[in-house]
Amino acid sequence: MASGETALLGKSVYDTYEQMFFIITRNGKHDHMASPERLTILNIPIDRITEDEAIDRVAAMLSAGGAHHIVTMNPEFIMEAQQNRLFRDVLRNADLATPDGFGLVLAARWCGTPLRGRVTGVALSHRIAALAATRGYRLFLLGAAPGVAERAAARLQTLYPGLVIAGCFAGSPHPRHEPFLRQIIAAKRPDVLLVAYGHPAQDLWIARNQPTLQIPVAMGVGGVFDYITGRVPFAPAWIRRIGLEWLYRLWHQPWRWRRIVIAVLLFSWTVMRRERCGWLRYCSKAG
Ligand code: UDP
Repeated sequence: MASGETALLGKSVYDTYEQMFFIITRNGKHDHMASPERLTILNIPIDRITEDEAIDRVAAMLSAGGAHHIVTMNPEFIMEAQQNRLFRDVLRNADLATPDGFGLVLAARWCGTPLRGRVTGVALSHRIAALAATRGYRLFLLGAAPGVAERAAARLQTLYPGLVIAGCFAGSPHPRHEPFLRQIIAAKRPDVLLVAYGHPAQDLWIARNQPTLQIPVAMGVGGVFDYITGRVPFAPAWIRRIGLEWLYRLWHQPWRWRRIVIAVLLFSWTVMRRERCGWLRYCSKAG
């Protein structure tokens, strides 16, 4: 694996910030309020899960069969869900909601229910590909610009020898293309479907089509294929470690400024305004 890819999978970002906020919140004294498995931020549930636990859950879904939906949650999802009722219901009904965005680490601390790890869509996609390669599960890559899914698939096959790619297709998230896409995907009988249509389209797409497709694991992955192929640069580990991924993204993709403002500023402001501060709650109880 190339060093950049190793960095993508690194856990040091979470660890560093966990340590930092451990200090800010007085050695995490309010951890006793943490629920064992899930927390909600602005009424959206997030699984308090580590990367290892997440891949165990994926393995269990694959063994069980049926249809499951994984969302890789970030602050933009939560903000969109505040005004998009359909999307909110989809997020609430997901079988697993992994804490992807860095802002969630901070928000969880604020709420007094710290996360136990950060599970990004990039890292989980790699772990799923590795699992699929060893156990013979078949992956289908849907979405991204034409040709990108194919290149991402080839890169994953190089990294994880033996990985079976059931199919790749760019397509479109528009509902009128769904019968055609369902036909293509169903014919390939994948065990895992990774959908890269960005939010909220990708998760709405999965929610609409999983009842028919019945794929054991379907996950919305946003720009993951772009990162795997190197089409979009991923922030170096040291930038992620100091929590400035958003600034790196803004530098490389300035047209995303509105989305970044929503993810960073509006989300922080809304959480501080609407969620009670867990640390204060702890102090008042202790007092
Ligand atoms: N995309 C697509 N069709 C669309 C809209 C988006 O294939 O109609 C792809 C786009 O090429 C990119 C991904 O969806 O690969 C969205 O990436 P982004 O980083 O914006 O995802 P998000 O931040 O929303 O998770």
